[in-house]
Amino acid sequence: MPEKLNRFEAVWVFGLLVIPTLMLISYWIFRIENWGIALGLIFITNILFAFLTIRSLRQLRKSRDLLRLRAEKDNALLGSLGEGIVVTDKNGDVEMINKQAGEMIGWSLSEVVGKKWYEVAPLQNEKGEVIPPEKRATQTVLSKGKPVYSSVNYYVRRDGSRFCVGTTAAPVVVDGKTVGVIAVFRDITREREIDRAKTEFVSLASHQLRTPLSAIKWYAEMLLNGDAGQLMAEQLEFVKFISQSNERMIELVNSLLNISRIELGRIRVEPVLTDLGELVSQVLKDLEVKIMAKKLMPVVSVNPQIGKILIDPKLIRQVYLNLLSNAIKYTPEGGMVSVIISAKDDEIVSQVTDSGYGIPKKDQVKIFERFFRASNALKVEADGTGLGLYLVKAIVESSSGKVWFESEENKGTTFWFTLPAAGTPAKDGDVSIDS
Ligand code: ADP
Repeated sequence: MPEKLNRFEAVWVFGLLVIPTLMLISYWIFRIENWGIALGLIFITNILFAFLTIRSLRQLRKSRDLLRLRAEKDNALLGSLGEGIVVTDKNGDVEMINKQAGEMIGWSLSEVVGKKWYEVAPLQNEKGEVIPPEKRATQTVLSKGKPVYSSVNYYVRRDGSRFCVGTTAAPVVVDGKTVGVIAVFRDITREREIDRAKTEFVSLASHQLRTPLSAIKWYAEMLLNGDAGQLMAEQLEFVKFISQSNERMIELVNSLLNISRIELGRIRVEPVLTDLGELVSQVLKDLEVKIMAKKLMPVVSVNPQIGKILIDPKLIRQVYLNLLSNAIKYTPEGGMVSVIISAKDDEIVSQVTDSGYGIPKKDQVKIFERFFRASNALKVEADGTGLGLYLVKAIVESSSGKVWFESEENKGTTFWFTLPAAGTPAKDGDVSIDS
């Protein structure tokens, strides 16, 4: 369908088509009538044409001024936001940035337009390694067509300094097609500092709490052993209760301490050649009392081709310990628990399966969150901190691995985690995980 003419175009069509036509008609009239009528007609038409042209031009100017005003308002609005905004086309070329974005990265607006965003604002991870363009939020948005949020990376300014950035990037969709990306970002250095200060507080507080808790543990044990004389049945019952509650408190404080130390990057990683099958057997031995209480017979299967791998056994032991104690805790008496260790490509995959209560679908997205416990777990097992899986994820990811799970309520759960077959690199730190 031909597009409708705007007012200005209509006037010009009128002028270009109607005037000559009228002139032809006039000529014809002139032949049979006289010049006067013809010239009069041309004159009136020209006045009409001039009038319509001036009116259209005025309206055009008005619309242009309105558009300019809107653009200025939009710019003022974008400029008054605290966040930096960048709009790129499909190729990652900058189409527009706001004032804050320019100030944050140290480039002026006119300098960046048309340049690649990944060139003007290089992105680094915590260790200072450059993140390639295909792994940046803007590119992920283009490939997935969905908004992306990232928070742990750093933009490098023009002068080489860097700041921690939180970015939300979303596709720009026109007529159902993604034509570019809009990214909103802000400097989150301050939030990170506050977060770190809080973590340091948790670390310090939990470390301080360990001493009195140890004292309670030893004195409760002495009372239970009769070191202060034989206790009456009721006294014994009370001291047992104190001792059990204290054990739970020690577990919680240790988890908090370990988590805060991992988050602060204070944990030392000391890789040694380790036999994963043996490590699992040791963990199962430590869990023997719980296994017997549930009448379970854990099955362990290790691919014989997997040799010893270079990992920190203290750290990875904690991963198996948390996954296996969950498998036992959330499986009813006489159920099934198994561990399978296999190799895939350049990774070692550990699989911990149980035939227990499972994790309800609605709770699955939150399972690795701090302090989260699923609704069914709260009913069947009062004991628990909701910190075990958070710690598992932190350890596995800091060892360059991945962790995930599948679960069906009342059927069971399988957790998988990977470790690089090449092992994990050593890392300096002030403490090891269980100290
Ligand atoms: P908790 O101390 O509560 O076990 P975790 O962080 O280890 O804390 O686990 C968090 C939650 O994940 C648990 O409370 C439970 O709801 C769920 N969960 C973990 N492992 C299993 C499992 N093997 N079977 C069923 N639910 C599980």
